Amino acid sequence: MSNVLPTYPRSNLTFDYGEGSYLFEANGDKYLDFGSGIAVNSLGYANKYLNEKLMDQANKLWHVSNVYQIPEQERLAKRLCETCFADYVFFCNSGAEAIEAAIKIARRYFYVTEGSLTKNEIITFSGSFHGRTIGALAAGGLEKLDGFNTSVPGFKQLQYNDHEALEAAVSKDTAAILIEPIQGEGGVSVLPVECLIGLRKLCDENNILLIFDEVQCGFLRSGKMFAHQWADIEPDIMTTAKAIANGFPLGATMTSKKVGDVMHHGTHGSTYGGNPLAVAVGNAVLDIMQKEIFLENLKKVSSYFLAGLKEISNKFPDSISEIRGKGLILGLKCMKDNLKFVEELRKQKMLTIKAGDNVVRLLPPLTLSIKECDEALEKITKACNSGY
Ligand SMILES: *Cc1c(COP(=O)(O)O)cnc(C)c1O
Repeated sequence: MSNVLPTYPRSNLTFDYGEGSYLFEANGDKYLDFGSGIAVNSLGYANKYLNEKLMDQANKLWHVSNVYQIPEQERLAKRLCETCFADYVFFCNSGAEAIEAAIKIARRYFYVTEGSLTKNEIITFSGSFHGRTIGALAAGGLEKLDGFNTSVPGFKQLQYNDHEALEAAVSKDTAAILIEPIQGEGGVSVLPVECLIGLRKLCDENNILLIFDEVQCGFLRSGKMFAHQWADIEPDIMTTAKAIANGFPLGATMTSKKVGDVMHHGTHGSTYGGNPLAVAVGNAVLDIMQKEIFLENLKKVSSYFLAGLKEISNKFPDSISEIRGKGLILGLKCMKDNLKFVEELRKQKMLTIKAGDNVVRLLPPLTLSIKECDEALEKITKACNSGY
């Protein structure tokens, strides 16, 4: 038996090394990776610049406690705040931890500013995924806690897209609305710009905090630094992780000054969060992403790829009924079984990820080339041709 707790259904693939958009098995078999470790390896594998920065820092200092000054952490926080609405960043190690911090901050905000003991309800939506801690599971839908002998009050999940239900659910006890601007696990559903604007308005009118979970759709995945920036509005709190350090475990919860000011010494913390090694990689990721040429290439490649996918779905309406997503977080809504489609692509040495709502998720590295797009389009066409 394996001594690893069997919480994942694992395929038999074993990768030995990676290079750019490809993963290699020890026998030399080469796979085009349109999963990127689930939107993590946005700069591809074995990026020389990142490796250099990681090694430089590893030779100097891996870890010191957050009770000391960490200049690179200060620098990363400042740079992140310059990219969005935020004034404060809390560093942690994963998406779920970023969500936990967001939940704590939102609830504490009304405890501190209004002395409220009841304004603590967080509204979330069907199809969402926020992580696997008790709090993050509760946010993802209370049924996800079935089987754990746990009840968590203060969460209300509504049907995604049901505007009337949302208006009706808001009450004086609503503290926050938590939503992914683009649902990843749920099936690559893009929240329309009007909805982002509508949510901001609803929150403003009812003294509610707006929390965006950008763990999967952030860091240029959608073609903007953060997906909500497709609309001209800002959240009060935002969670990020996945691509923030290209695979080095790092997460970040960002807040406005008004909201973050309620968090005093001792209200939250993390032993590893934002340690020198993690933030050195985080800064190196931004160095690359903030080059003008990076976004230019991303725009060019993503529109080329989307046009190719649309052509395929027009040609094979019995296989793919719809192309969803933005930038390079894309979904193929399948007419047949999405898992079979993923398996067929795997036979053709292309890696993709199954998502909810019978969708195959495509999350290639953002460094993708036109040539690699062509290779992917050819493999997807073959899968359709095989009847999937
Ligand atoms: C992956 C994900 C999380 C959880 O991140 P972990 O690092 O696995 O804890 C939370 N929210 C969204 C939107 C995600 O995609």
